[in-house]
Amino acid sequence: MTRKIAAGNWKMNGLRASVEEARAIASGADGCTVVICPPATLLVPMSALGVALGGQYCHASTSGAHTGDISAPMLADAGATWCITGHSERRADHGESDADVRAQTEAAWSVGLTAILCLGETLAQREAGETLDVLRSQMDGSLPSGATPDNTVIAYEPVWAIGTGKVATPDQVAEVHDALRARVGPGFSLLYGGSVKAGNAADLFALDNVDGALVGGASLAAADFLPIVKAL
Ligand code: 13P
Repeated sequence: MTRKIAAGNWKMNGLRASVEEARAIASGADGCTVVICPPATLLVPMSALGVALGGQYCHASTSGAHTGDISAPMLADAGATWCITGHSERRADHGESDADVRAQTEAAWSVGLTAILCLGETLAQREAGETLDVLRSQMDGSLPSGATPDNTVIAYEPVWAIGTGKVATPDQVAEVHDALRARVGPGFSLLYGGSVKAGNAADLFALDNVDGALVGGASLAAADFLPIVKAL
């Protein structure tokens, strides 16, 4: 059985007042695995809410002269048990390569964090018919060989669907998730991300190889996120 997971990626959103929103999410989560990945500044204030927390990125090194960065041991120390790796915004904004993502994923594991490893094609790649090739290459390059269903969750996030309101169709998601399942085998949770909302979550979760979602904008408020959690 794969784990059913609703993960919220808060990205660069949230001040200390947002802890109350996370509290509302935590108290409505009943039974499902809900993970909130807030900005690192909110990990400690959220650590007593009873909801699983994740980082949004970790450096491959445990410490050192890397101004502005954050390490996996720091995330774990602040209360995280999960960490997103390879998000397309990090790949684009910070030039993170597949090799970087692989090293970061291993760093996350080294302190017991479960990685949510993100993959996804751009619109140009989809229109060129390259989607499955791109994903295969991202898997080859960024998924470390030690991946297990316990230490890693895979998130398919088409870049063109992130923050655009253009959710991938169930057929598009099914094609990719079936290919990912064939690649990783049973047991691994496969999340979809990209404009997931209460109104489209149930159709996505009904697909055989969709085990949950990685939600951006609609995870910031309990009123938006909890209906997605309940659809799981
Ligand atoms: P949106 O749900 O805002 O499209 O963001 C998806 C995402 O990037 C989650 O990691």
